[in-house]
Amino acid sequence: MQSSMQDVPLLISQILEYGTTVHAASEVVTWTADGPRRSTYGEMGRDCKRLANALRSLGVDGDQRVATFMWNNEEHLELYLTVPAMGAVLHALNIRLFPEQLIYVANHAQDEVVVVDSSLAAPFAKLLPHLTSVRHVVVNGAVPDDVRAALAADGREVHDYRELLDAQSEEFTWPQLDETTASSMCYTSGTTGNPKGVVYSHRSNYLHAMQLCMPSGLGVRQGDRLLAVVPMFHANAWGMPYGSLLAGATLVMPDRFLQAEPLATMIAAEHCTGGAAVPTIWTDLLRHLDEHPEVDTTSMREVIVGGSACPPSLMRAFEERHDIRVLHAWGMTEMSPLGTIAVPPAGLAGEQAWSYRETQGRLSALVQARLVGPDGSVMAWDGEAVGELEVKGPWITGSYYLDDDPEKFDSGWLRTGDVGTLTPDGFLRLTDRAKDVIKSGGEWISSVDLENALMGHPKVKEASVVGVPDDRWGERPLAAIVVLEGQELTVEELRTYLADHVAKWQVPERWAFVDEVPKTSVGKFDKKVIRRSYAEGKLEVTAG
Ligand code: ADP
Repeated sequence: MQSSMQDVPLLISQILEYGTTVHAASEVVTWTADGPRRSTYGEMGRDCKRLANALRSLGVDGDQRVATFMWNNEEHLELYLTVPAMGAVLHALNIRLFPEQLIYVANHAQDEVVVVDSSLAAPFAKLLPHLTSVRHVVVNGAVPDDVRAALAADGREVHDYRELLDAQSEEFTWPQLDETTASSMCYTSGTTGNPKGVVYSHRSNYLHAMQLCMPSGLGVRQGDRLLAVVPMFHANAWGMPYGSLLAGATLVMPDRFLQAEPLATMIAAEHCTGGAAVPTIWTDLLRHLDEHPEVDTTSMREVIVGGSACPPSLMRAFEERHDIRVLHAWGMTEMSPLGTIAVPPAGLAGEQAWSYRETQGRLSALVQARLVGPDGSVMAWDGEAVGELEVKGPWITGSYYLDDDPEKFDSGWLRTGDVGTLTPDGFLRLTDRAKDVIKSGGEWISSVDLENALMGHPKVKEASVVGVPDDRWGERPLAAIVVLEGQELTVEELRTYLADHVAKWQVPERWAFVDEVPKTSVGKFDKKVIRRSYAEGKLEVTAG
């Protein structure tokens, strides 16, 4: 039997139209050196139509790639909505990638138009001679003449974002597309080899945005004022742009002001109710708030942390000292990115609830998962059996763009490279990334467990643990520690502390006190760099 339901495709143009009319009064607020700059979603909707006409005038009439080289701001949101809605493909470039990787991804995606923030135009101009497909550069903001000339070299056309829009009409009819059409793309930072492209569809983005608005998802709702710290080039800003338009939540965009002090100012001035960022951002903000009790954060209810394992001590400190609930979530660029969210089962409180909140969280609706053991057998969801997590679902990629990587797929499942357990009620606890697990003798040591324990020490600012070669055990942990400013800490103190939190045989013998843990382009601890520094003898290691 055929259903009698209308066959209406799930399109980003619907999110755009819905959000900018029904929630016309909600706002996008962009932080600037002079404070906030605001637009209502209603005003933005009119800009989106002008932008669509402008891009058509630049020859974007099909699935051309329109790239962005931008911070989180109003114009970036307009592009997020408009480019897919008009049938083209949005490619948000990660401004922090190494130049060779940026050049590789822009050429691989065949980006034709690039919209660049004026504050990033000078570094972008250095890349441009190597970007073979770029025909138009649109600059958001004013740039000096020499930078403009560099952008225009080799016959490229340079435009000013606002001037381009001002010349256009507010009339535009969004095309009716197939919901499986490509909407946007994002490259994951390849650990070996080149980054790989994930291509999202209208349908995948739409369904993912609805998941964001579910109470057992991120619970985004009307009246929320979300501080969008996670960059729009990092896994779709975790779905906040589309989720906020659907829910009618206001977005507070920090642009380039990502340090703890301006973030705290934004929270107080804009009465933010929530936000999303990686643990390193929240760690800095916590310290700032501890040192500045005068900052009013009473509006802040709940924030999302993900991207790497969040130390439980960080979550507890926010809640106990600032009454801000930190919700742990896990995901991947390949998964749009949301996979799990640590909303505890109903009715639990206190330590019982914490035992769930400290996990990576419960599987999202529509995300199927299985654990696969080293011998390829599927393991039980019993909270004990450890395996590699494999996932399947409507917002999970089934391949990479023009790039075979058969190792990442297993009979239609995406291999996440993450290792952990699942409880019968679908809570995921990751012990590690497969490549970060420390194989000591016949036993595995979770680098994440050691990091979480070490970061619970009151004098530790950051701690990252990697496996390094060891003659006797094959591999042993090395802990790189950043001590809080003004504090003194010895290896002996750390060893004693750790022995109370993990099995004694897991306590590292190698310690390095460092000024800062190196970070990846999206703010995660960069273990590759730590391992390399160790291998090259560049770390001062204390035995303990
Ligand atoms: P990259 O590969 O550049 O880090 P992604 O953000 O796509 O880009 O990384 C996804 C990976 O990040 C996951 O496979 C997982 O290893 C890690 N990750 C994300 N969220 C968490 C979390 N809450 N806890 C532990 N690891 C996480």
